Amino acid sequence: MTTTLPAYDEVVARYEPVIGLETHVELGTNTKMWCGCPTDFGGEPNTRVCPVCLGLPGSLPVANKAAIEATIRIGLALNCSIAQWCRFARKNYFYPDMPKNFQISQYDEPLCFDGYLDVEVNGETVRIGIERVHLEEDTGKTLHVGGATGRIHGATESLVDYNRAGIPLVEIVTKPIPGTGALAPEVARAYVTELRDVLRSLGVSDVRMEEGSLRCDVNTSLNLPGEEWGTRTETKNVNSLRSVERAVRSEMLRQASVLDAGGRITQETRHFHEDTGDTTPGRSKETATDYRYFPEPDLVPLAPDPAWVAELKAALPELPRLHRRRLQQAWGLSDADMQSVLNAGAVELIEETVAAGATPAAARKWWLGELSRRANETGVELAEVGATPAQVAELQGLVDAGKLNDKLARAVLEGVVAGEGSPTEIMGARGLEVVSDTGALTAAVDEAIAANPEIAEKIRSGKVAAAGALVGAVMKTTRGQADAKTVRELILTRLS
Ligand SMILES: [Zn+2]
Repeated sequence: MTTTLPAYDEVVARYEPVIGLETHVELGTNTKMWCGCPTDFGGEPNTRVCPVCLGLPGSLPVANKAAIEATIRIGLALNCSIAQWCRFARKNYFYPDMPKNFQISQYDEPLCFDGYLDVEVNGETVRIGIERVHLEEDTGKTLHVGGATGRIHGATESLVDYNRAGIPLVEIVTKPIPGTGALAPEVARAYVTELRDVLRSLGVSDVRMEEGSLRCDVNTSLNLPGEEWGTRTETKNVNSLRSVERAVRSEMLRQASVLDAGGRITQETRHFHEDTGDTTPGRSKETATDYRYFPEPDLVPLAPDPAWVAELKAALPELPRLHRRRLQQAWGLSDADMQSVLNAGAVELIEETVAAGATPAAARKWWLGELSRRANETGVELAEVGATPAQVAELQGLVDAGKLNDKLARAVLEGVVAGEGSPTEIMGARGLEVVSDTGALTAAVDEAIAANPEIAEKIRSGKVAAAGALVGAVMKTTRGQADAKTVRELILTRLS
């Protein structure tokens, strides 16, 4: 396609977007959904399999209680109702990475339904309706070899690895989200970010988008104001928060250009490409009837005891939004300051630094200042920058004890980031400690007085403010290591 895309501002002036998000989360249970096979990532292909997850004839599934518990907890955290009785269903389709030729999922009786998640976008709260949260099993993985791209085109053979087959997978589906206008891409990103944080706080998944334990499909449609919602497309393969935002934006632009030209949007799945940021068509979208759903005959219905559900609800951890609000208050930050902490991805780092003994202000200063700058320069996440919260707290402790000044502390931090050891070790090894011993400083002070007779004379005649220039001279000869307060006292004593 060589058509030029319209400008984003023009698109949102003419069309109203409706978005929707389907998120798949691999649960962090020890064993698979229907059998006792281990679930850890990696491992030689086809070593974590058994007759059940290989779909061999005669094998029978048994539901994993930990997975059901995790799903109910997710539903509760998303303000859903929990079904008192529901069934698993067979979703029938053929795919080589699915050994049974059907997936055990849930259809019209999801375990959790009708909830919401509040997210913040530009300081405003947007309530995202949650349609359903259901439990299913993951598929295996197909590997295409012999070609240059790893795709099926050009490959000489395809291999299949069933280690992932049968890992419990939770699908979280939003209700359609209309009315977000130009902010639609940011709302989509904010939702997935908040959802990830909720799942992390529940401890139900490691929520790593890059390893595929959190995967997102993005539905997008456009309509003219006052008219019915348009035909939607479903963009797959969206595996980073940034891509969620880009995928919505790119699909809005593409659909607008089709509609502007008098064309129609085809209901289809589309693939998102990280490199170009655009989407290409996949298969035309199946409807539910294509899957011939029917209740899974090998499993008993699920009927979670309401007392158990109430117990799980009472034991939910503090959810991220409330947690952030509490921290903001405790740290005494304005909304804007808290936002910059959030944008920097520094909430937990600051929290842990404070827990290790630093004041909130000092912790924030290091993480948002020197360490953010370094993370930006080297293109890594703040958490991967090379300093730990404990080290930052230790560094600040040395500053508070007068052993380091600001400049020396930055030099020590450089050593920490370079992996030279703890702040105390680096201070010793690099000889960076503040010198406040009067004996050692007297010589440098006398030297400065001798080199600056006019300034010395001014101080003798009572112009104490002139002492700053001599302090500067001493700092220079001691490479910034002199304790400025002691130096000043020495100068004034010498010249009084
Ligand atoms: Zn198995």
